[in-house]
Amino acid sequence: MDLKSFHRRSIEDRGGFWAEQAGLIEWHKPFAAVLDYSRPPFARWFVGGETNLCHNAIDRHLLTQPDAPALHFVSTETGEERSYSFAELYREVVRMAAIMLAQGVGRGDRVLIYMPMIPEAAFAMLACARIGAIHSVVFGGFASRSLASRIDDARPSLIVSADAGSRNGRVIAYKPLLDEAISLCAHKPERVLMVDRGLAPFASVPGRDLGYAALREEHLDADIPVTWLESNEVSYTLYTSGTTGNPKGVQRDVGGYAVALAASMKHIFCGNPGETYFCTSDIGWVVGHSYIVYGPLIAGMATILYEGTPIRPDAGILWRLVERHRVSVMFSAPTAIRVLKKQDPAWLTKYDTSSLRALFLAGEPLDEPTARWISEGLGRPIVDNYWQTETGWPILTVAHGIEKTPTRFGSPGMAMYGYDVRLLHEQTGEEVAANQKGVVAIEPPLPPGCMQTIWGDDERFVKTYFETIPGRLVYSTFDWGIRDPDGYYFILGRTDDVINVAGHRLGTREIEESLSSHEALAECAVVGVADQLKGQVAVAFAVLKDPARAGTPEARQALEGELMAIVDRQLGAVARPARVHFVGMLPKTRSGKVLRRSIQAICERRDPGDLTTIEDASALDQVRDALAS
Ligand code: ATP
Ligand code: MG
Repeated sequence: MDLKSFHRRSIEDRGGFWAEQAGLIEWHKPFAAVLDYSRPPFARWFVGGETNLCHNAIDRHLLTQPDAPALHFVSTETGEERSYSFAELYREVVRMAAIMLAQGVGRGDRVLIYMPMIPEAAFAMLACARIGAIHSVVFGGFASRSLASRIDDARPSLIVSADAGSRNGRVIAYKPLLDEAISLCAHKPERVLMVDRGLAPFASVPGRDLGYAALREEHLDADIPVTWLESNEVSYTLYTSGTTGNPKGVQRDVGGYAVALAASMKHIFCGNPGETYFCTSDIGWVVGHSYIVYGPLIAGMATILYEGTPIRPDAGILWRLVERHRVSVMFSAPTAIRVLKKQDPAWLTKYDTSSLRALFLAGEPLDEPTARWISEGLGRPIVDNYWQTETGWPILTVAHGIEKTPTRFGSPGMAMYGYDVRLLHEQTGEEVAANQKGVVAIEPPLPPGCMQTIWGDDERFVKTYFETIPGRLVYSTFDWGIRDPDGYYFILGRTDDVINVAGHRLGTREIEESLSSHEALAECAVVGVADQLKGQVAVAFAVLKDPARAGTPEARQALEGELMAIVDRQLGAVARPARVHFVGMLPKTRSGKVLRRSIQAICERRDPGDLTTIEDASALDQVRDALAS
């Protein structure tokens, strides 16, 4: 079938379409209705059906492939490597579930998981799913203040954590951060379950803190059946990345999510049982939830849990893992590829990556030069995909399981089945024509797998997402895009980031893409800065592959001129940045997204705002220094 007909059917015959997809997972009790949309914009999928994420991720494979690998743990930080078959993973998850139950954690209770990338983190997530507890994973890189606000929001009875994580060879002790966070919280968790990796000694709080290793021994032979859950019960809550400000607590269901992931593994990622999936994200992000833990396992694939960076011990590590585990599907982020771009390209061909059918990239705009660089360097297909924490799985991409539509560099692809994607005029709410810019919106109901609501705040859910475009109840992605006549979308930037130069509306992304076509650039960020004459002007910050290219004032000026000329030629003088500043790095969130709002604030001499999710605050000093010089 062709993708467009497949998509059309998913919208015109929602019931029939999703009933079919629902057959990809196992149900304990069949659903009575595919969709209940009696209270827009709240959608309830597979009403009355009973299933379980852990059952679909693990138990169901015990019959067909108990000894097939399910999880490979690789840490280039500590040198550890461990593999678990489905049968072994089952045992570990059941033990973890038994520990939780013994601590009184039950259906609907929250468990906050603050962990590095170790197998126990996945065990904890799957154990929650097994017993119907709601997990709330907080990215292990966050410090106490971010953690505290999430503890207060989730109000967990149990926190699962570890002594430490490690990043770039540096041990980061988690326990002191956790203790501090708990002291800052209004809500006090009853128990803290500690996994001790032996990386950082820690003090235990008697009566509150429990040791995982000892409790695991007590429950070695535990047998904990899955708790069958109604499809619309809550599986987890998870925060958005906080790129635009206050993170939102996304709440997700059970049945819809399981079906959506199973369908995406089939139609989009084309993964088969017995194969290996390698996603370089972190379990603290939605990509990690969907495509490190649940998606691959539901599809019967082995998943790689990787603690490490793309360039340690060397820039060949990702490809060495692909070779070693015969990875068929890989998922990473443009930001990781841009890191590799600053390294010797010979690493891309040093290992046998022929098992790799495709490398999927998401999280940030994938500029054409970066896409070409990695695609040509590896000689493997690259598939951009666009989505959000809120949606749980891709909104825009290509679905090679349906039709081999070609990918187009610069475009994440077409509307995926289930998503009734519209491009709307920000003020009038009317649909824009092909090749016109508009807000990327989704006509509700949102498909299975998408957020149910904001945790504990239905009103904020409706207000934040469905009431921003005048005159209609429609989901806004807060991204700005364009669609070509063939149905390929291009994301031009976030709606907050749109620049208005003398009445011309420009996406920061358009200008960034243009600048990136200069071979000297590794990456760049463009922001709109208030200007008395023009309203706003574009200002660019560029990171060079080789900083020596701007080593002298003359060289810098010449390069700035070249970059401006490129934008002039490609987009017109109106889009030309007023300045191109060279910096060593860009300020990014911990998930690798450029913090344009903070750069903009600094350019306008304002406070950079909420920086709790920033990766390296010294990047802001580089922006300040560049502006001062
Ligand atoms: P917050 O909502 O808290 O400000 P965030 O939007 O960065 O943070 P995420 O849900 O992690 O949180 O990121 C989703 C956003 O990332 C999208 O809305 C879009 O702006 C960007 N994005 C993701 N994938 C792509 C892609 N393939 N191309 C372009 N942009 C992308
Ligand atoms: Mg967002």
